[in-house]
Amino acid sequence: MLHQNLIAGEWTEGVAVNRDINPSNLDDVVGEYARADARQAETAIEAAHEAFKSWSRATPEERSDVLDRVATEVLARKDELGRLLSREEGKTLPEGIGEAVRAGRIFKFFAGEALRIGGEKIPSVRAGVEVEITREPEGVIGIITPWNFPIAIPAWKIAPALAYGNCVVFKPADLVPGCGWALADIIARSGIPAGVFNLVMGSGSQVGNAIVRSPKVRGVSFTGSVDTGRKVAADLVARGAKVQLEMGGKNPMVVLDDANLDIAVGACVNGAFFSTGQRCTASSRLIVQSGIHDKFVDAVGQKLAQLKVDDALKPGTDIGPVVSQDQLDQDLSYVDIGRHEGARLMTGGERLNRETPGYYMAPALFVDTTNDMRINREEIFGPVATVIRVKDYEEAVAIANDTEFGLSSGICTSSLKHASDFKRRSSAGMVMVNLPTAGVDYHVPFGGRKGSSYGPREQGAYAREFYTSVKTAYTLP
Ligand code: NAD
Repeated sequence: MLHQNLIAGEWTEGVAVNRDINPSNLDDVVGEYARADARQAETAIEAAHEAFKSWSRATPEERSDVLDRVATEVLARKDELGRLLSREEGKTLPEGIGEAVRAGRIFKFFAGEALRIGGEKIPSVRAGVEVEITREPEGVIGIITPWNFPIAIPAWKIAPALAYGNCVVFKPADLVPGCGWALADIIARSGIPAGVFNLVMGSGSQVGNAIVRSPKVRGVSFTGSVDTGRKVAADLVARGAKVQLEMGGKNPMVVLDDANLDIAVGACVNGAFFSTGQRCTASSRLIVQSGIHDKFVDAVGQKLAQLKVDDALKPGTDIGPVVSQDQLDQDLSYVDIGRHEGARLMTGGERLNRETPGYYMAPALFVDTTNDMRINREEIFGPVATVIRVKDYEEAVAIANDTEFGLSSGICTSSLKHASDFKRRSSAGMVMVNLPTAGVDYHVPFGGRKGSSYGPREQGAYAREFYTSVKTAYTLP
């Protein structure tokens, strides 16, 4: 079966076919997906533009009901969706199911938010005049997502867009059309009017570009790499449209001498290597104080030796494959770069063979690194982490903040003083104490600073900043 695009309420053939391949087993074709071109993207945008007239006036309950039905079906089918996710992206099955649950929970949250779109009525400074402040939907929103959270990221953009009354044109990443299509299929059966939600699978240069350039698209929420994000933002800003970018990270995890060793090792191994290190919030720089350094490095090495890298769907697998050949090449090239820069590769960093042909890689840990090395400055986006030794807390904070990124950061310590100080001084948008840098709640703001993010925050009630426009009305009754 060819999985088609959803344009103006109709399942529509594309101009080419994308074969979705399982990174754990390259002989396994997950499915065939239609690829649209720019013209089809424009048809979808036109349909969304037309549908906005009525969807923007739908009652909060109508919108809430649609989101609630999507949430209920996603949660009921969490095992099947989680399995599809693991098969096409390479997260382990528990991680895949966890992400499907998260997507369902996000729709539940925004089903509630749709009913809570309030306003303010305040006295004017002019006698007898009343002032009302309300929020209105923006119009057509373009949603462009990466491959690494193929159901959660689409969910946390689509759900608020629809909840606040916008219409959506959604383009998933080429590597993971399956989860995007499955979510679109659920949304299509939720009672949503034709054209309110459109799925347009295809390349960034064709479909992505058409979304970004169309004057009918009022805003684009983008998650992906820094290079693409900057290009997307430049085009949108040039035509005065709204833009929200979530991009890369080089997230620091500080481990102080007074840390609980088990907690620190657990948080670092999870944060750096789970989901194959392919998380924008992954702890890629472990900044470790000299008193605990050797014990910490030994313990992480022991833990890594116990982790099973294998087929994402196999019971007992801790780390699945890298997502693609390109990503694997990038990860392995950074291992070479690290070696040439003088870092010591303590463990891992090589390609692995398993029963099925896949992109398996042993998690790599570099020690004796300095923060000016490329492996500490550039996002690798794979199972590669570094250790930077520091003498004290002050040096740790300075190094943690010395990065062009600012998504997430963490500290492992039993000192309330240092934990509080770090929360205040960290230049990241999210700060974790005794917890991995990756792994966040779905009902609170998500996002970073500096080179990691641009525009209003995603998720939780803060999402309304991007998906609505404020109106101030004055009345002399
Ligand atoms: P990418 O930038 O290659 O692609 C992201 C999306 O943009 C894809 O759908 C792609 O098709 C599309 N695209 C490509 N060129 C385009 C263009 N010219 N115009 C419009 N759209 C275009 O990123 P990726 O490789 O899919 O994802 C990995 C990156 O995503 C990493 O850098 C990672 O840090 C980042 N990421 C960030 C967050 C976050 O919230 N900060 C979360 C997950 C992933």
